[in-house]
Amino acid sequence: MAAAASAAAYQTVSPTGQLYGKAFCGLPPESRQIALTFDDGPNDPHTLNLLDILSKHSVPATFFLIGRYVRQRPDIAAEISKRGHAIGNHTFTHPLLTFQSGAHIRAEIQQCSSAITDAVGQHTNLFRPPWGGRRPGLFSIVREIGLEPVMWNITGYDWNAPSMAFIEKKVTREVRGGNVVLLHDGGHVAFGADRSKTVAVVNRLIVKYKSEGFEFVDIPAMMRRM
Ligand SMILES: [Zn+2]
Repeated sequence: MAAAASAAAYQTVSPTGQLYGKAFCGLPPESRQIALTFDDGPNDPHTLNLLDILSKHSVPATFFLIGRYVRQRPDIAAEISKRGHAIGNHTFTHPLLTFQSGAHIRAEIQQCSSAITDAVGQHTNLFRPPWGGRRPGLFSIVREIGLEPVMWNITGYDWNAPSMAFIEKKVTREVRGGNVVLLHDGGHVAFGADRSKTVAVVNRLIVKYKSEGFEFVDIPAMMRRM
């Protein structure tokens, strides 16, 4: 009983756990694809710096935006879209959804969708829950309102990383191909979080894995390969 309860608790945050419903979290390694995903933006100046790195290497990525930051800086959200990246929904205020009512979850998602639509117009129907937090029924609610949940299978642990090398190692020790990599261009606590380490690591990861023959794609492109 205790083991079952702790397994259930783990499933609320384990990104690849499927107990509370299936969500996309990558492909088999044979795909040789890597999808870089960035949560908790838009952010200033790190999102724009990141966009420059991605443009330099012609790498598409996927950004899961927090609605209240989109309201604050719609210009940065618009720039993400203008550069051709995929944009998904990461709620309006970044609450842990594990303990929220269905009505509150819907409101958080819909407010975020409106903010993104006002800033960039049409965008993907992808959704990522804050902290990967889930509860029974969350993904049914998400799908009922037309969105598709996306998790990840590699974490960069970049939200409080001591160094670039730390983030880089967390990612490189896991890359096999078919990976959805979780990184952050912003911070959920406050606008303006320092993500300079993440931005610098992204440059290094792209150089490394392109030279090894991996292909960088956004999540919609990766999902089409399923
Ligand atoms: Zn987040």
